[in-house]
Amino acid sequence: MEVTETNSAEETYELGRQIGIRAKAGDVYTLTGDLGAGKTVFTQGVAAGLGIDEAISSPTFTVLQIYDEGRLPLYHFDVYRIGDAAEMDEIGYEEYFYGGGVCMIEWADLIEEILPPSYYRITIEKDMQKGFDYRRITVTVCGKM
Ligand code: ADP
Ligand code: MG
Repeated sequence: MEVTETNSAEETYELGRQIGIRAKAGDVYTLTGDLGAGKTVFTQGVAAGLGIDEAISSPTFTVLQIYDEGRLPLYHFDVYRIGDAAEMDEIGYEEYFYGGGVCMIEWADLIEEILPPSYYRITIEKDMQKGFDYRRITVTVCGKM
């Protein structure tokens, strides 16, 4: 478990970027945290680390957005509006979870039962006593890497 404290969106972006630089084909990252915690900012950093220049928006209304122009494909999920895991079947999620790219899954707690055996869990927490822009970011390895 690794904990990083950030005090701006830029610092969270930079942490994501460092992870994007090191990411390997098949890596899955889940993102847990309230609305506005910084899950998309973190993902934008990962995209930059993968060499993706395209603007990364929140895919809330599309569930999945694919970016192919980087060092590895980026599969950006936001499952906030998904009803159940069956909807993930319709998207063909396995092709992405077990494919040759990097998956970032916002609100992954909602689809816990279909997460792969191994993944990196990223939790972003606010603490208002430490300021409006403070975030505590925890990276935990789940399963065997
Ligand atoms: P989420 O995807 O978790 O709903 P976003 O990444 O879309 O959240 O938005 C996070 C918001 O919080 C942005 O407006 C960003 O500028 C702001 N922010 C302030 N401080 C931080 C920080 N330390 N890390 C990430 N975002 C921050
Ligand atoms: Mg988001």
